[in-house]
Amino acid sequence: MLKRTAQMTVLVAGGAGFVGSHLCEALLRQGHRVICLDSFLTGSMENVQALCNFREFRLVRQDVIEPIRLSEAVQRVYNLASPASPPQYQADPVHTMMTNVVGTQNLLALAEAHGARFLQASTSEVYGDPEIHPQPEDYRGNVNCTGSRACYDEGKRAGETLCFDYRRRARVDVRVARIFNTYGPHMRPDDGRIVSNLLVQALRGEPLTIYGTGEQTRSFCYVTDLVVGLMALMETAEAPDCAINLGNPGEFTVTQLAALVRRLVPTAGGVVHHPLPEDDPRRRRPDIERARRLLGWEPRVPLSDGLPQTAAWFARHLGQALPPPVRAGRPSVPART
Ligand code: NAD
Repeated sequence: MLKRTAQMTVLVAGGAGFVGSHLCEALLRQGHRVICLDSFLTGSMENVQALCNFREFRLVRQDVIEPIRLSEAVQRVYNLASPASPPQYQADPVHTMMTNVVGTQNLLALAEAHGARFLQASTSEVYGDPEIHPQPEDYRGNVNCTGSRACYDEGKRAGETLCFDYRRRARVDVRVARIFNTYGPHMRPDDGRIVSNLLVQALRGEPLTIYGTGEQTRSFCYVTDLVVGLMALMETAEAPDCAINLGNPGEFTVTQLAALVRRLVPTAGGVVHHPLPEDDPRRRRPDIERARRLLGWEPRVPLSDGLPQTAAWFARHLGQALPPPVRAGRPSVPART
């Protein structure tokens, strides 16, 4: 799906985070030089430790809110710098909004100055609590602009606006990915996202927390699939004049996800229900026809493969042995991609 390109210098803002560290590694493996710029707000040194062995990897510790100056020319800029899980982006909502607005503007200005291509990691949260299902890119969303999630949702919406204004005004070659729930190794155990929450609780033998009835749905994309999609979007010859959804269209209720986790980690405790957080979306599933048509991209790793790999990584990370999974009986959830 990915064509090899000549060596480039690539800036990855947010490169020490969950997705960013996988992206940096994939770019290095393609032979590119990578500058990872990160404030380590939610990222970690552990995520990029192995990358420091690559001669072509450079780490810059900086907040994207501050003006960005680089001593070398870059040809590509990926902007992944933003906390992504609700507890983390709500911890300092003003900083989250500024990261997505001022930080995005700083990186767009840098791309303009360097004549570099720019890719924005936007989010399915721009659709808010969607009224149509699945969500195509031309759906304009249902976001509560004064709610406690707005610092992220509206910050990302404004970030997209800036991208397309830089494209119209300054002719910056921008590409905007709307990323749906992604999971895999390098997620923080405490980041508060559903997959990490359930796996970590299960591995610790704690009860699994389900918010609301558990009938709300999510779509889960394995991180390597997402990274291929981001790179394909960046390298497609002609910049799409619209945002592109990247996610796995397989749709699961939270209850189904908890059941899969329990099959993988049978020592998990029972289930406890907590009230739904404010503005929690009821249904989430990407329409990925555009990505299929324009990029030839679609995810390849079903949840039935990605979840065990993620569980094994968390088990190693937490220093716990993964108990043998329950094998008897039919799976309660079909393996879908
Ligand atoms: P993450 O929190 O693991 O990574 C974000 C990285 O950005 C971290 O390394 C963090 O330290 C860095 N960062 C945050 N604020 C910064 C700032 N002001 N200056 C410099 N660095 C800063 O999150 P992730 O899951 O890897 O997400 C990466 C990007 O993808 C984010 O922009 C997120 O909004 C977007 N996204 C992710 C998902 C998902 O499911 N993982 C879904 C939709 C969108």
